[in-house]
Amino acid sequence: MEKNCLFCRIISGQAPAEFVYKNDVVVVFKDIYPKAPVHLLIVPKKHIRSINELSETDREIVSEMILTAKEIAKKNLISTTGYKLFFNVERGGGQEIFHLHLHLIGGWI
Ligand code: AMP
Ligand code: ZN
Repeated sequence: MEKNCLFCRIISGQAPAEFVYKNDVVVVFKDIYPKAPVHLLIVPKKHIRSINELSETDREIVSEMILTAKEIAKKNLISTTGYKLFFNVERGGGQEIFHLHLHLIGGWI
């Protein structure tokens, strides 16, 4: 928990968000400025700044993020039509919130 990190504050309930899923490792909430009909963020509870800061011991977290994304896509009925999963990495990659998160966007068709 980093007290100046917005996503840590959301995870700990100190800032609001519209959660759609939670387990021991990840939370999923709606992006506040959606760029698609479905725009969700899959966020590990552990504070990790970006993909660059992942370590060998974070393998389970990364696989949990991707498997959760797959399940959430299915629940949102966009599995068959398709969706995008992406990480923005550091400023040049468009990252604005420096707590690791996987974007799930879809729902155009
Ligand atoms: P990134 O540019 O990859 O760091 O993505 C950060 C995302 O977080 C953006 O798509 C923002 O719209 C989203 N965002 C920023 N603040 C909030 C918030 N309070 N609740 C939910 N999503 C947020
Ligand atoms: Zn954080």
